[in-house]
Amino acid sequence: MNGKIALEEHWESPDFPATGSHNFTDDEYFSAVQKRLQEFEKRIEDMDRNGIQTSILSLTQPGIEGITDPDRAVKLAKQMNDHAAEFFVSKHPDRFKAFAAVPLQDPEEAAKELERAVKLGFVGALVNGYSNIGDENTAQYLDEPQVRPFWEKAAQLQVPVYLHPRIPLPHQQRIYEGYEGLLGSAWGFGFETATHAIRLMLSGLFDEYPDLTVILGHLGEGLPFTLPRVEHRLRHQRPETHGSHKKAPTEYLRKNFYLTTSGVFRTQALIDTLLEVGSDRILFSVDYPYETMEEISSWFDQCPISETDRYKIGTENASKLFQFNR
Ligand code: MN
Repeated sequence: MNGKIALEEHWESPDFPATGSHNFTDDEYFSAVQKRLQEFEKRIEDMDRNGIQTSILSLTQPGIEGITDPDRAVKLAKQMNDHAAEFFVSKHPDRFKAFAAVPLQDPEEAAKELERAVKLGFVGALVNGYSNIGDENTAQYLDEPQVRPFWEKAAQLQVPVYLHPRIPLPHQQRIYEGYEGLLGSAWGFGFETATHAIRLMLSGLFDEYPDLTVILGHLGEGLPFTLPRVEHRLRHQRPETHGSHKKAPTEYLRKNFYLTTSGVFRTQALIDTLLEVGSDRILFSVDYPYETMEEISSWFDQCPISETDRYKIGTENASKLFQFNR
């Protein structure tokens, strides 16, 4: 299928090599990934071979969110967004778009930076999970009250926020001891991010801003399968223990979230996602360069869904969401 739009695609600046911190990743794989993160011309050839017209790029995890000093986070987010504009967006405006990096360590500054970036042509923000403030064992989650100015700005600008994974907090990693390979994209990422997304739903954020859009990768980090049971069991938990949401969690999943195919090439999982949220809420993505465009595209182009749905998921939904045809 030609004309696909992919939106969980990552980049890295040589000035801010953000991915060197995980010691559980295979060295050979990682050095190949790092080379591709900093490269844009060959990426276009790869996109051409796999029918991808547009890639929306974001700073790879943990990104700005992993910076413990708020002032440095503010400065570096601006610098990285300027680099993105200069390195690839302005050079290939018809092939590359970008999600802004935002310094959530200071939510007012994050709101300002989002607005500045959107004026520069960025299509929204991508947030790598919780933000460290002070040290690596602190976390600020996106549902927390001090983050509201950022959401207010996203709602006002009508741009989506992609909630991307990062590994669990260092002091919450006991369950992975002896199995550190599970900490990242194999498992810990999804578990951490799904829980973060549930916090957003339960917090009442989407009651306050009903038109807010959050995007999750990896087919919703398992939520199409797990959220119905969360909802079912929460009926029996004391109300004060699960936030102040007005609607059922699955309703937010269907109305406020889009889910991408990043890193997943499993038809059974896609069918479950289709049954839970419908084809209007699913978007094609690769998770390049952690995944190959060939693997995800060759599966997606052939998987047994209707051509109507393939077109929606591959192109149309993203084109509408980001108003590419405006
Ligand atoms: Mn990713």
